[in-house]
Amino acid sequence: MVGWDVPGWEEGGAAPADELHPVPAPSATAAMPATSHTRAHDGMPIDMALSFSRTAVEYSNVSRPQRANAGAPVAHMDAMVLNESGPIERAPLRREEWPDPQPGPGEVRLRVECCGVCRTDLHVIEGDLPQHKRPIIPGHQIVGLVDRLGDGCRRLRVGQRVGVAWLRHTCGVCPFCRAGRENLCEQSLYTGYDADGGYAQYAVGPEEFVYEIPAGFEAVQAAPLLCAGLIGYRALRRSNLRPGGRLALYGFGSSAHIVLQIALQRGCDVYVVSRAPQHVELARALGARWAGTDAADMPVRADSAIIFAPAGELIPPALEHLEKGGTLALAGIHMSPTPPLDYTRHLFYEREIRSVTANTREDARELLAEAAQIPIRAHVVRYGLADANQALLDLKADRISGTAVLDVT
Ligand SMILES: [Zn+2]
Ligand SMILES: [Zn+2]
Repeated sequence: MVGWDVPGWEEGGAAPADELHPVPAPSATAAMPATSHTRAHDGMPIDMALSFSRTAVEYSNVSRPQRANAGAPVAHMDAMVLNESGPIERAPLRREEWPDPQPGPGEVRLRVECCGVCRTDLHVIEGDLPQHKRPIIPGHQIVGLVDRLGDGCRRLRVGQRVGVAWLRHTCGVCPFCRAGRENLCEQSLYTGYDADGGYAQYAVGPEEFVYEIPAGFEAVQAAPLLCAGLIGYRALRRSNLRPGGRLALYGFGSSAHIVLQIALQRGCDVYVVSRAPQHVELARALGARWAGTDAADMPVRADSAIIFAPAGELIPPALEHLEKGGTLALAGIHMSPTPPLDYTRHLFYEREIRSVTANTREDARELLAEAAQIPIRAHVVRYGLADANQALLDLKADRISGTAVLDVT
């Protein structure tokens, strides 16, 4: 399973979504085709506080293979490519020039505008996940403009802004798929893992798994929704939060800062526990009723709670601060061991614990519609495409407040 190399549980706050991806069965690889505004919440500082740019660092590890042939001209793109897993400190992604990908039947090609950076990318790159495609272009929060349609595409049109997320194939026939629970499909395939992703100028995705980005959404604002937002959205659903209820969030990173905005819009009060003072500050700025570093200080019991941090030791205090009949959702794919629970203190009075696994396409469509309506405003840290190694290094070191996004334009 996923190796977890995060030193403190709060680090998970920067990457809640990332830890939620199910690991596909190794056999799934063989089945892969070759081709492959801004309105702040009350009291929240507007975007100038929410976005800043990093200057590009010098390109290192530049690799320029020979062009494929001297005959027919082949268009080439820049991509950040993983040939061999290794610690991100060694900058394992190399900038290479690859032929532009061509969409196969039922696939669309995007001219990538930006791609969100996720902790799962880090797990793919550092080899924590079983190795699938190599070489691979990582990235699964891709936003771009459709520039080419493969045979049989009917829904999308050239020029449309769309998004590609982690889930890119499900079987459609297994009991889970047929029950509307495709997030549990055992034949699922993933972007940036089984097929090339969005750390590049062009990307291809199956039309059935490509989402229309609602009008008015800036590309860099939409990207974090495609993984961080999606996992948070599903976790929120699993937490049974009712309109006007009280929600507690443990860990406050990419997913949680999006979930908070949805919960506020639904008239809920949000309480945030985070070890990182800068995350506590962001939670307050975004409108949390209360935010602090110690759950013991939380002033109320919550009706619903979500643990984003991969720390099993948070389960008992989260249950203790849950109201009778309340629900605790665990949003991680990985969690450190859970301490023993006391039946009376932690579980009695119909308190429930539920896990969360990836998302369905329906979740994605619902989230995008609701996000546009609110509108959700992600706290984005921008990097250039060539700075992908640096972005991942900063993510690993918990230096990112909100979500890192590679700006490919
Ligand atoms: Zn992700
Ligand atoms: Zn299935």
